[in-house]
Amino acid sequence: MNGPEIHVEFAPGLRVFVPQARATGSLRTATDGIAGLGHVVESLGVPLTEVGALLVDGREVSVGHVPAAGESVTVRPHTYPQRVPGAPLRFLLDVHLGTLARRLRLLGVDAAYESTDIGDPALAARSAAEKRVMLSRDRGLLRRRELWAGAFVYSTRPEEQLADVLDRFDPELRPWTRCTACNGLLRAAGKEDVADQLKEGTHRTYDVFAQCADCGRAYWKGAHHDQLEAIVERAVASRPDRGA
Ligand SMILES: [Zn+2]
Repeated sequence: MNGPEIHVEFAPGLRVFVPQARATGSLRTATDGIAGLGHVVESLGVPLTEVGALLVDGREVSVGHVPAAGESVTVRPHTYPQRVPGAPLRFLLDVHLGTLARRLRLLGVDAAYESTDIGDPALAARSAAEKRVMLSRDRGLLRRRELWAGAFVYSTRPEEQLADVLDRFDPELRPWTRCTACNGLLRAAGKEDVADQLKEGTHRTYDVFAQCADCGRAYWKGAHHDQLEAIVERAVASRPDRGA
């Protein structure tokens, strides 16, 4: 491209996407005089899901703004918490984020997850059909126009991924209300309802059960409970006090 040349500065959190800007945070690039600024920024490597605002010479512009020669562009991230208007906050996670999906469900956050790789078009279509925020580390997937909304997951570690999603979207937490296996809602269950899923020792030791309304899986405060309790306590303690 040898059209108008512009100067682009990236906020620190976005530099990870732009190898040429990693050192200084900015670069000069030639545009084609036709493409909108959103497209230009995306071509430089930043998923638009991560862009909170685009400024030209200090003034906010839309992604459709066609840059002119000599313009100085600033790319800002979202401010937290990021609001996603238009539907209740719910998520869709790709095949690589199973642990994060289970932890979100443990906290009662609606987190659909595809345990098999159904492909980017199908994932994007589901995000659109169910109005779910697509969570992924795949920038190609996050570039798909059909997505309802999306967010890049920056860390590869589930603890950091969870903290990041909670900080970014501040979802309402309702621990112990969702099935970690299928995302269905749990309801109270009697021992007789779930007896066929209990081993002898469990049957004798526990009296309080819940059951998934969708897949029927039984839940009780069993062997892994302390570990799960610790995840829940950490997550709840990390949230701002809503004064409730
Ligand atoms: Zn279930």
